[in-house]
Amino acid sequence: MAGPAPGFAGTSAAGFAPGADRPGPPVPDDLALLVAGRKLLTGPDGRFPRVAELPADTAWVPLGTLDGVPAWGAEATEAGHGPAERDDDRRWRGWRELVAELPGPQADLAGRALAVLTFRRTHRWCGACRAELVDVPGETARRCPDCKLTVFLPLSVAVLVAITRPGRAGGPDELLLVRHAYGPTELWALVAGFVEAGESLEAAAQREVAEEVGLAIGRPAYVDSQPWAMSGPGTLLAGFTATAADPAAEPVVDGRELAQARWFPLDALPPELPPAYSISRWLIDHLAVRRPGR
Ligand SMILES: [Zn+2]
Repeated sequence: MAGPAPGFAGTSAAGFAPGADRPGPPVPDDLALLVAGRKLLTGPDGRFPRVAELPADTAWVPLGTLDGVPAWGAEATEAGHGPAERDDDRRWRGWRELVAELPGPQADLAGRALAVLTFRRTHRWCGACRAELVDVPGETARRCPDCKLTVFLPLSVAVLVAITRPGRAGGPDELLLVRHAYGPTELWALVAGFVEAGESLEAAAQREVAEEVGLAIGRPAYVDSQPWAMSGPGTLLAGFTATAADPAAEPVVDGRELAQARWFPLDALPPELPPAYSISRWLIDHLAVRRPGR
């Protein structure tokens, strides 16, 4: 087995620390993340603007710090800077584009900005009594002043499982890869799915594998995780490896969610793998046996 997954050192805590504290008002050099729908405003160099570059009356929300520099987010509509109103070389970009280009901590900050601003936009009113919600100081949460209901930013958790079995005739181990029936159908990906309420990560991994490809696996081993802002606000991906309980068992797909599932020797993986910035790829690379000179 290879060393730590390639993404391990490049994500989360290294440079970005999420936070909801408001130590003081934003200062001109603080980072400014302006959100319009599912897009963020970036400067000509692809980086985030500074607070000084945006209108002074912008209603900033604390997001945390990047390398010690406070970062603030705001909705573009509130700041009077809709996408159509820009005429300079700044650009609105989605998280997919940003995560492919930016270092891990900056992509995590971008994902948090999208999650927090989307949460605030979609949690304006109390779901129990319809009063207007207010921010809870120091928390990413909203509270109802009338019935005291408190709503935290909801975090959806999904698991990915890289399943292996021993190779044939002493060859390298084989990895199970799947192709989806919709979305990026050309990619060979990993079995994945959302965790249900009341379910452990390990149980979710075993259930998803049984549902999607009809295989039983041993106890999944946790490898790494990644905040993921592609499929909606507040998604956390948790990556596992596991071995097939029966090395002779073949996968069976339902034809609705998955179109194909196949074992590949770890030294002969297909070229159509998930992108380098994704935890799917980190798990695959974590297992892959590189041929000499490759
Ligand atoms: Zn209420």
